[in-house]
Amino acid sequence: MLFPLAAQAQSFTPPMDQQIVFSGNFGEIRADHYHGGLDFKTGGTVGKVVRALADGYISRIQVNSGSGLVLTVTFPDGWSAAYRHLSAFMEPIASRVKAWQYEHQSWEMELRPQPDEYPVKAGEQIALSGNTGYSMGPHLHLDIFNPEGEYIDPLPFFIEKVRDRTAPKVEGFKIYAAPGEGMINGKQADKTVPLNAKEPIEVWGRIGVGIRAYDYMDGNHNKYGVKYVTLSVDSVEVFKSTVDRFAYEENRYINSWCDGQYMKSFIDPGNKLRMLEALNGQQGWITIDEERPYHLHYTLSDALDNTTEVDLVLQGKKQDISPLEVEKEDILHYDRRNVLQRPGLQLVVPRGALYTDVYLHYGLRDKDSLAYIYRLTDEAVKLHTGAELQIGLRTMPVADKSKYHIVRIGKDGRKSSVGGTFEDGFLKARILQLGTFTAEIDTVPPVIKPVEQQTWAKNGKVTLKADDRETGISSYTATIDGEWALLGKPNSVNNNLVLELDPEHVKKGIQHELVVTVTDGCGNKTTQRFKFIW
Ligand SMILES: [Zn+2]
Repeated sequence: MLFPLAAQAQSFTPPMDQQIVFSGNFGEIRADHYHGGLDFKTGGTVGKVVRALADGYISRIQVNSGSGLVLTVTFPDGWSAAYRHLSAFMEPIASRVKAWQYEHQSWEMELRPQPDEYPVKAGEQIALSGNTGYSMGPHLHLDIFNPEGEYIDPLPFFIEKVRDRTAPKVEGFKIYAAPGEGMINGKQADKTVPLNAKEPIEVWGRIGVGIRAYDYMDGNHNKYGVKYVTLSVDSVEVFKSTVDRFAYEENRYINSWCDGQYMKSFIDPGNKLRMLEALNGQQGWITIDEERPYHLHYTLSDALDNTTEVDLVLQGKKQDISPLEVEKEDILHYDRRNVLQRPGLQLVVPRGALYTDVYLHYGLRDKDSLAYIYRLTDEAVKLHTGAELQIGLRTMPVADKSKYHIVRIGKDGRKSSVGGTFEDGFLKARILQLGTFTAEIDTVPPVIKPVEQQTWAKNGKVTLKADDRETGISSYTATIDGEWALLGKPNSVNNNLVLELDPEHVKKGIQHELVVTVTDGCGNKTTQRFKFIW
């Protein structure tokens, strides 16, 4: 076994009483991150008992819109476990959380108790499962961290209680031609290839391969991430991925390793993800320089050693390699700091932000008098750390400088605000991907709508929806009968603002006045009043 605690794994109590079934596993490919833990199914309902895995103490208590109600238990050897999306804490923690929220007038909260405050025993009930935070349905998310604070695959700790004889399944491949160095079927473009493709794929030069595959478990239809992938070419291993641990700072490397749902079997030079290993001295790229078939062989396994093997043949066929046609000043280098200056635009990409060299396809379009539309790249290029983008304003029709913001324009024309502050004629924002950008004005305040107001009294719960099309909701606050109200966002998928009416704070049997104020990313505010009897 890989980890020191694994020796104690037999004594790890499962976090839930029912048969272990997962709706998600460790390392699944998600937007900008790996899924950091296991999702335990809770039978489609909330309120299931959640238990401590081992003796330890509650070291962290959080409420936030990302993970909802969260408890972290630290074990004596420095390992810890985080339980997310809970519906309720136990007493006395539940009362302490509520008191903190009223005292600090904030639904979002965090406490770090001392080791002697809330000791727990293995198997002790510590919370109820739920569907809070960014959660698509009721489940328990469990993370396990090693003493260094890295995310560790929790599955080995429960392996004896998991039923699974189903191996991963491969859906297809993607072949990559290195820019200026490789060709696929006469073109220098990536090509997707189905499993058991009939057409031969003729390649030449420097070629990379990616694979789309999922793991499955017995008795359900969920798709999981694949723990082990190995690629060999003509029986020589060239690449290996082992999805078993990552540090928080490594999370965005998923944008380099994965191309959508394809896991690449070569490593970008700026990708330092430790779960990947190239074994051929070429970072997993394959050199095709002979006119013959190249036999690629993939082996994919899950944590229980259920294994799938698939073959892919690439036909080496001499082709003229198209040279790279890009101006020197349009190359952003992965191994240095890049500064791009164009009329009305400055981009600073720090060293460590790029996974590989990026070839800009710079273009400028006139939109209106406010700012130009700047195309940096055709496709979105994700960055590992932020880059600083400045866009000059050509006119300022609105005097209030806080109303300007930078937007990224997607390929489908959809705009998303990246915020920005105004300084010396320029709007400045931190961006996490390259693409197409311009500046806009937001003077439109958010909209607040009651949700099923006729049910508020009956359910003892106020539900509202707040929306802002331009820059999004940045903050919200409410009072009821003139007192601060505990309005929160219990589920950030439905995005509702919810106030549980609490007889400790709201007098029953009378008419109440609720005043809600919502602010958007450019400081535009909407205040709305609601009268109801409860
Ligand atoms: Zn999860």
